[in-house]
Amino acid sequence: MVTRRNLGPQPRLGYVASPIDRAVGCRGDDAALKKYSEHAQAGAYVIGGELVALKPGGPSCEPLFSPAQARALGAVREVAFLGLLGDAPRFGFGFDPDAIEQLKARDDLKITDLRSIAVQGMVAAEHLPPLAEAKALLGWHARHRFCPHCGAPTKLTQGGWRRDCPSCGAEHFPRTDPVVIMLVISGERCVLGRSRRFVPTMWSCLAGFAEPGETIEEAVRREVLEEAGIVCGRVSYFASQPWPFPSSIMIGCHAEALSDTLVVDREELEDARWFDRDELVSMLNRRHPQGLTAPPPVAIAHHIIRSFVEIGSDVFR
Ligand SMILES: [Zn+2]
Repeated sequence: MVTRRNLGPQPRLGYVASPIDRAVGCRGDDAALKKYSEHAQAGAYVIGGELVALKPGGPSCEPLFSPAQARALGAVREVAFLGLLGDAPRFGFGFDPDAIEQLKARDDLKITDLRSIAVQGMVAAEHLPPLAEAKALLGWHARHRFCPHCGAPTKLTQGGWRRDCPSCGAEHFPRTDPVVIMLVISGERCVLGRSRRFVPTMWSCLAGFAEPGETIEEAVRREVLEEAGIVCGRVSYFASQPWPFPSSIMIGCHAEALSDTLVVDREELEDARWFDRDELVSMLNRRHPQGLTAPPPVAIAHHIIRSFVEIGSDVFR
Protein backbone atom coordinates (compact mmCIF):
# COMPACT_ATOMS: atom_id res chain seq x y z
CA MET A 1 0.00 0.00 0.00
CA VAL A 2 1.53 3.29 -1.12
CA THR A 3 1.11 6.38 1.08
CA ARG A 4 -0.34 9.23 -0.97
CA ARG A 5 0.29 12.89 -0.27
CA ASN A 6 -1.60 15.90 -1.53
CA LEU A 7 0.69 18.86 -2.17
CA GLY A 8 -2.19 21.14 -3.21
CA PRO A 9 -3.01 22.67 -6.59
CA GLN A 10 -0.69 21.72 -9.46
CA PRO A 11 1.55 24.65 -10.42
CA ARG A 12 1.75 25.48 -14.11
CA LEU A 13 4.44 23.86 -16.26
CA GLY A 14 6.21 26.34 -18.56
CA TYR A 15 6.01 26.55 -22.38
CA VAL A 16 3.04 24.13 -22.68
CA ALA A 17 -0.68 24.51 -23.53
CA SER A 18 -0.23 27.03 -26.33
CA PRO A 19 -3.32 29.15 -27.03
CA ILE A 20 -2.16 29.55 -30.65
CA ASP A 21 -3.68 27.72 -33.63
CA ARG A 22 -0.66 27.02 -35.82
CA ALA A 23 -2.88 27.36 -38.94
CA VAL A 24 -0.61 24.96 -40.80
CA GLY A 25 -2.71 25.24 -43.98
CA CYS A 26 -1.73 28.92 -44.35
CA ARG A 27 2.02 28.33 -44.37
CA GLY A 28 2.20 27.79 -48.13
CA ASP A 29 -0.26 30.59 -48.92
CA ASP A 30 1.85 33.70 -49.60
CA ALA A 31 -1.22 35.92 -50.13
CA ALA A 32 -2.66 34.91 -46.74
CA LEU A 33 0.70 35.40 -45.01
CA LYS A 34 1.02 38.90 -46.53
CA LYS A 35 -2.50 39.76 -45.37
CA TYR A 36 -1.70 38.47 -41.86
CA SER A 37 1.52 40.51 -41.70
CA GLU A 38 -0.52 43.66 -42.45
CA HIS A 39 -3.34 42.75 -40.05
CA ALA A 40 -4.16 45.45 -37.46
CA GLN A 41 -3.82 42.89 -34.62
CA ALA A 42 -0.63 41.23 -35.92
CA GLY A 43 1.92 40.73 -33.16
CA ALA A 44 5.59 39.82 -33.30
CA TYR A 45 7.92 38.26 -30.73
CA VAL A 46 11.43 39.69 -31.17
CA ILE A 47 14.25 37.20 -30.56
CA GLY A 48 17.98 37.03 -31.23
CA GLY A 49 19.84 33.93 -30.06
CA GLU A 50 19.12 33.51 -26.35
CA LEU A 51 17.74 37.04 -25.96
CA VAL A 52 14.15 38.27 -26.15
CA ALA A 53 13.03 41.92 -26.40
CA LEU A 54 10.24 43.01 -24.02
CA LYS A 55 8.42 46.28 -23.35
CA PRO A 56 8.64 46.98 -19.61
CA GLY A 57 5.79 48.54 -17.65
CA GLY A 58 2.91 47.22 -15.55
CA PRO A 59 3.03 44.11 -13.36
CA SER A 60 4.44 42.08 -16.25
CA CYS A 61 6.33 43.01 -19.42
CA GLU A 62 4.72 43.03 -22.88
CA PRO A 63 6.51 40.72 -25.33
CA LEU A 64 4.48 41.60 -28.45
CA PHE A 65 5.47 44.30 -30.93
CA SER A 66 3.59 45.32 -34.07
CA PRO A 67 5.47 44.14 -37.19
CA ALA A 68 6.35 47.80 -37.92
CA GLN A 69 7.69 48.32 -34.39
CA ALA A 70 9.71 45.11 -34.67
CA ARG A 71 11.23 46.17 -38.00
CA ALA A 72 12.18 49.55 -36.52
CA LEU A 73 14.35 47.78 -33.91
CA GLY A 74 16.98 46.73 -36.45
CA ALA A 75 17.76 44.32 -39.30
CA VAL A 76 15.33 41.39 -39.27
CA ARG A 77 17.05 38.18 -40.40
CA GLU A 78 14.01 35.87 -40.55
CA VAL A 79 10.26 36.12 -40.05
CA ALA A 80 8.30 33.00 -39.07
CA PHE A 81 4.51 32.68 -38.95
CA LEU A 82 3.62 31.12 -35.58
CA GLY A 83 -0.14 30.94 -36.10
CA LEU A 84 -3.33 32.66 -35.01
CA LEU A 85 -4.57 33.70 -31.59
CA GLY A 86 -8.26 34.02 -32.45
CA ASP A 87 -8.08 36.37 -35.46
CA ALA A 88 -4.75 37.87 -34.44
CA PRO A 89 -1.70 36.63 -36.40
CA ARG A 90 1.44 35.94 -34.41
CA PHE A 91 4.97 36.03 -35.81
CA GLY A 92 8.49 35.48 -34.61
CA PHE A 93 11.02 38.07 -35.82
CA GLY A 94 14.59 36.81 -35.71
CA PHE A 95 17.50 39.20 -35.22
CA ASP A 96 21.23 38.60 -34.99
CA PRO A 97 22.21 38.20 -31.30
CA ASP A 98 24.53 41.25 -31.63
CA ALA A 99 21.65 43.40 -32.87
CA ILE A 100 19.51 42.43 -29.85
CA GLU A 101 22.45 42.94 -27.51
CA GLN A 102 22.73 46.56 -28.73
CA LEU A 103 19.10 47.18 -27.75
CA LYS A 104 20.12 46.74 -24.08
CA ALA A 105 21.20 50.41 -24.19
CA ARG A 106 17.56 51.50 -24.66
CA ASP A 107 15.62 52.19 -21.49
CA ASP A 108 12.24 51.71 -23.19
CA LEU A 109 13.07 47.99 -23.72
CA LYS A 110 14.02 45.09 -21.49
CA ILE A 111 16.37 42.59 -23.16
CA THR A 112 16.78 39.31 -21.35
CA ASP A 113 16.88 35.55 -21.84
CA LEU A 114 13.85 33.27 -22.05
CA ARG A 115 14.84 31.16 -19.01
CA SER A 116 14.79 34.26 -16.79
CA ILE A 117 11.51 35.40 -18.33
CA ALA A 118 9.92 32.01 -17.55
CA VAL A 119 11.37 31.45 -14.07
CA GLN A 120 10.71 35.02 -12.90
CA GLY A 121 7.27 35.21 -14.53
CA MET A 122 8.15 38.41 -16.42
CA VAL A 123 5.37 37.94 -19.01
CA ALA A 124 1.82 36.57 -18.81
CA ALA A 125 1.98 32.74 -18.83
CA GLU A 126 0.14 32.42 -22.17
CA HIS A 127 3.11 34.06 -23.95
CA LEU A 128 5.57 31.32 -22.93
CA PRO A 129 4.44 28.66 -25.46
CA PRO A 130 4.63 31.00 -28.51
CA LEU A 131 7.93 32.40 -27.23
CA ALA A 132 9.26 28.82 -27.04
CA GLU A 133 7.91 28.09 -30.53
CA ALA A 134 9.50 31.26 -31.95
CA LYS A 135 12.85 30.84 -30.18
CA ALA A 136 13.32 27.20 -31.24
CA LEU A 137 12.22 27.91 -34.82
CA LEU A 138 14.27 31.09 -35.29
CA GLY A 139 17.30 29.43 -33.71
CA TRP A 140 16.98 26.63 -36.26
CA HIS A 141 16.93 29.19 -39.10
CA ALA A 142 20.02 30.91 -37.73
CA ARG A 143 21.90 27.57 -37.80
CA HIS A 144 20.63 26.41 -41.22
CA ARG A 145 21.29 29.29 -43.59
CA PHE A 146 23.44 26.96 -45.70
CA CYS A 147 22.48 23.60 -47.17
CA PRO A 148 23.98 20.64 -45.24
CA HIS A 149 24.00 18.65 -48.52
CA CYS A 150 25.80 21.02 -50.88
CA GLY A 151 26.76 24.14 -48.90
CA ALA A 152 24.73 26.63 -50.98
CA PRO A 153 22.70 29.36 -49.22
CA THR A 154 19.16 28.15 -48.41
CA LYS A 155 15.94 30.16 -48.62
CA LEU A 156 13.16 30.44 -46.02
CA THR A 157 9.78 29.19 -47.34
CA GLN A 158 6.42 27.97 -45.96
CA GLY A 159 6.06 30.92 -43.59
CA GLY A 160 9.29 29.91 -41.86
CA TRP A 161 8.58 26.17 -41.55
CA ARG A 162 10.98 25.00 -44.28
CA ARG A 163 14.24 26.04 -45.94
CA ASP A 164 14.81 25.13 -49.56
CA CYS A 165 18.12 24.81 -51.34
CA PRO A 166 17.93 26.42 -54.81
CA SER A 167 21.17 24.67 -55.81
CA CYS A 168 20.44 20.96 -55.11
CA GLY A 169 16.68 21.12 -54.48
CA ALA A 170 16.84 19.74 -50.92
CA GLU A 171 14.06 20.72 -48.52
CA HIS A 172 15.05 21.19 -44.88
CA PHE A 173 12.55 21.05 -42.00
CA PRO A 174 12.95 22.48 -38.49
CA ARG A 175 14.10 19.81 -36.10
CA THR A 176 13.45 19.03 -32.47
CA ASP A 177 15.97 17.04 -30.45
CA PRO A 178 14.55 14.53 -27.93
CA VAL A 179 15.97 14.63 -24.41
CA VAL A 180 14.99 12.00 -21.83
CA ILE A 181 14.61 13.30 -18.28
CA MET A 182 13.90 10.72 -15.61
CA LEU A 183 13.45 10.07 -11.93
CA VAL A 184 15.07 6.81 -10.86
CA ILE A 185 12.98 5.20 -8.13
CA SER A 186 13.51 2.39 -5.64
CA GLY A 187 10.64 1.96 -3.16
CA GLU A 188 10.38 5.20 -1.14
CA ARG A 189 13.63 6.63 -2.51
CA CYS A 190 14.76 8.26 -5.73
CA VAL A 191 18.02 9.52 -7.27
CA LEU A 192 18.65 13.21 -7.87
CA GLY A 193 21.84 14.65 -9.33
CA ARG A 194 23.59 17.98 -9.49
CA SER A 195 25.19 19.52 -12.54
CA ARG A 196 27.96 22.07 -12.02
CA ARG A 197 25.77 24.53 -13.98
CA PHE A 198 23.04 24.42 -11.30
CA VAL A 199 22.64 27.00 -8.56
CA PRO A 200 24.50 25.53 -5.54
CA THR A 201 21.42 24.29 -3.66
CA MET A 202 19.51 22.66 -6.54
CA TRP A 203 19.17 18.93 -7.23
CA SER A 204 17.22 17.53 -10.17
CA CYS A 205 16.35 14.54 -12.33
CA LEU A 206 19.03 12.94 -14.51
CA ALA A 207 18.72 13.78 -18.21
CA GLY A 208 20.39 13.28 -21.56
CA PHE A 209 19.85 13.29 -25.32
CA ALA A 210 18.26 10.25 -26.93
CA GLU A 211 20.68 8.89 -29.52
CA PRO A 212 19.97 7.74 -33.08
CA GLY A 213 18.63 4.19 -33.15
CA GLU A 214 17.39 4.21 -29.56
CA THR A 215 13.92 3.98 -28.01
CA ILE A 216 12.98 6.37 -25.22
CA GLU A 217 13.17 3.48 -22.72
CA GLU A 218 16.64 2.48 -23.94
CA ALA A 219 17.84 6.09 -23.75
CA VAL A 220 16.57 6.35 -20.15
CA ARG A 221 18.32 3.12 -19.10
CA ARG A 222 21.57 4.03 -20.87
CA GLU A 223 21.74 7.57 -19.46
CA VAL A 224 21.02 6.38 -15.89
CA LEU A 225 23.66 3.66 -16.14
CA GLU A 226 26.21 6.10 -17.61
CA GLU A 227 25.62 8.94 -15.16
CA ALA A 228 24.74 7.09 -11.94
CA GLY A 229 25.73 3.43 -12.43
CA ILE A 230 22.18 2.24 -11.66
CA VAL A 231 20.57 -0.54 -13.69
CA CYS A 232 16.92 0.26 -14.52
CA GLY A 233 14.01 -2.01 -15.38
CA ARG A 234 10.55 -0.55 -15.92
CA VAL A 235 10.34 2.88 -17.52
CA SER A 236 7.03 4.72 -17.57
CA TYR A 237 6.25 7.85 -19.53
CA PHE A 238 5.04 10.82 -17.49
CA ALA A 239 4.71 13.93 -19.70
CA SER A 240 6.70 16.06 -22.12
CA GLN A 241 7.70 19.69 -22.46
CA PRO A 242 9.08 21.84 -25.29
CA TRP A 243 12.51 23.05 -24.20
CA PRO A 244 13.76 25.74 -26.58
CA PHE A 245 17.43 25.70 -25.43
CA PRO A 246 18.05 25.54 -28.29
CA SER A 247 15.38 23.20 -29.71
CA SER A 248 14.58 20.14 -27.61
CA ILE A 249 11.59 18.27 -26.33
CA MET A 250 11.98 16.96 -22.79
CA ILE A 251 10.45 13.48 -22.42
CA GLY A 252 9.69 12.99 -18.74
CA CYS A 253 9.79 9.44 -17.31
CA HIS A 254 9.98 7.46 -14.11
CA ALA A 255 12.43 4.55 -14.10
CA GLU A 256 12.57 1.63 -11.68
CA ALA A 257 16.01 0.96 -10.19
CA LEU A 258 17.10 -2.71 -10.15
CA SER A 259 20.36 -1.92 -8.30
CA ASP A 260 21.15 0.66 -5.61
CA THR A 261 24.89 1.37 -5.57
CA LEU A 262 25.58 4.75 -7.14
CA VAL A 263 28.64 5.15 -9.35
CA VAL A 264 28.58 8.84 -10.26
CA ASP A 265 30.11 10.01 -13.54
CA ARG A 266 32.00 13.06 -12.24
CA GLU A 267 32.52 14.38 -15.77
CA GLU A 268 28.76 14.74 -16.21
CA LEU A 269 27.62 15.37 -12.64
CA GLU A 270 29.01 17.13 -9.60
CA ASP A 271 27.15 14.62 -7.43
CA ALA A 272 24.15 12.28 -7.22
CA ARG A 273 22.51 10.64 -4.23
CA TRP A 274 19.36 8.95 -2.95
CA PHE A 275 16.56 11.12 -1.50
CA ASP A 276 13.47 9.83 0.31
CA ARG A 277 9.96 11.16 -0.29
CA ASP A 278 9.87 13.15 3.00
CA GLU A 279 13.04 15.02 2.09
CA LEU A 280 11.61 15.80 -1.37
CA VAL A 281 8.51 17.39 0.22
CA SER A 282 10.73 19.89 2.05
CA MET A 283 12.68 20.61 -1.16
CA LEU A 284 9.52 21.24 -3.22
CA ASN A 285 8.17 23.48 -0.43
CA ARG A 286 11.53 25.26 -0.06
CA ARG A 287 11.68 24.34 3.65
CA HIS A 288 14.64 21.94 3.53
CA PRO A 289 16.82 22.30 6.68
CA GLN A 290 20.01 22.62 4.55
CA GLY A 291 18.28 24.84 1.97
CA LEU A 292 18.30 22.20 -0.79
CA THR A 293 15.80 22.85 -3.58
CA ALA A 294 14.10 21.06 -6.45
CA PRO A 295 13.77 22.78 -9.86
CA PRO A 296 11.03 25.45 -10.16
CA PRO A 297 7.53 24.53 -11.46
CA VAL A 298 8.32 26.00 -14.90
CA ALA A 299 10.52 22.91 -15.50
CA ILE A 300 9.16 19.40 -16.03
CA ALA A 301 11.65 17.99 -13.48
CA HIS A 302 9.61 19.67 -10.74
CA HIS A 303 6.48 17.82 -11.87
CA ILE A 304 8.23 14.45 -12.33
CA ILE A 305 9.54 14.70 -8.75
CA ARG A 306 6.24 16.00 -7.41
CA SER A 307 4.26 13.10 -8.88
CA PHE A 308 6.57 10.62 -7.08
CA VAL A 309 6.15 12.58 -3.82
CA GLU A 310 2.38 12.49 -4.24
CA ILE A 311 1.77 8.92 -5.41
CA GLY A 312 5.04 7.04 -4.77
CA SER A 313 5.59 3.88 -6.80
CA ASP A 314 2.08 4.22 -8.23
CA VAL A 315 3.82 6.36 -10.91
CA PHE A 316 4.37 2.99 -12.62
CA ARG A 317 0.66 2.16 -12.85
ZN1 LIG B 1 21.81 22.01 -51.40
